[in-house]
Amino acid sequence: MLRLAKPEVVVSRCLGFESCRYNAQMIPNKFVEKLEKFVNYRTVCPEYDIGLGVPRAPIRMVFRSNETRLVQPLTGVDVTERLLEFTESFFAGLERVDGFILKSASPTCGIKDVKVYPGEGKVASSGRDSGFFGGTVLERYCGLPIEDEGRLSNFTIREHFLTILFTVTRFRDLSINLTRKGLVDFQSDNKLLFMSYNQNEMRIMGRIIGKMDSRGIEEVYSDYSSHFYKMMSTPPKHTSHINVLMHGLGYFSNYISSSEKRFFLETLERYRDGKIPLSVPLYILRSYIVAFDSEYLARQTFFQPYPAELIEITDSGKGRSGK
Ligand code: SF4
Repeated sequence: MLRLAKPEVVVSRCLGFESCRYNAQMIPNKFVEKLEKFVNYRTVCPEYDIGLGVPRAPIRMVFRSNETRLVQPLTGVDVTERLLEFTESFFAGLERVDGFILKSASPTCGIKDVKVYPGEGKVASSGRDSGFFGGTVLERYCGLPIEDEGRLSNFTIREHFLTILFTVTRFRDLSINLTRKGLVDFQSDNKLLFMSYNQNEMRIMGRIIGKMDSRGIEEVYSDYSSHFYKMMSTPPKHTSHINVLMHGLGYFSNYISSSEKRFFLETLERYRDGKIPLSVPLYILRSYIVAFDSEYLARQTFFQPYPAELIEITDSGKGRSGK
């Protein structure tokens, strides 16, 4: 059975940890709660942590003199520098991080679509951007899973987030005790998962592993990493998943009945139409892996890239447009 390491996740504190919002409230989130058992959370509330207090007058992003500032319209205080300094020191103190869940629409934590205003008075917003803290996260941690709680209510986005989160964590764990065997096993155990993300990158990574004996292990890891993060940063296409699922079905075509095969293909159609998440056809294949004792497929992370307890097929339908 594959070992599922515990990821380190930075999370906005108002998402159920503390009543630190400007209005002294918090916003509990079911997904954040459910994930807690499987990750180590490090909470952050940049606005509170720079001393704005609770409750506080709301802040907003204001575009003036050709730059965006973070201001508190009611008091006229500009907190841009304080927030940027805090952000720098927060990241400097982070020993390790594998992913982020940040509060949507916040001028501080938001990662996208945060309103930007042309002034501090009663004016309509004039644009959208990332918040100050959320924007820095996107710049600094490209390649890691970074989402907001709103987008995570969509099952496709959630599946991709969880898949990268646990895969990146396993990959980082490799570097703690780096061995050639560890890299070979990683490439082998993730073969189908990588195939679903990007076949070209998967082959390049396979070649790096295949020819690694003539190179230093650190150099190999660094070379492999750049392709790994590049590959994981783009969600797989529906069609790639279907191809890999069909590939998986091929292992059992001589063992299952025609009605079982038909049922699987119908399920695949429903997945193709966006009516069910990937975890449903995966679950069927996993039942074959158990029933027919396929040792090779049992090791493939594609069939269980994250803990099964986190599979949740509800979908708000929000946020389908991707990051
Ligand atoms: S969105 Fe960020 S800054 Fe605002 S209350 Fe939540 S954690 Fe604090």
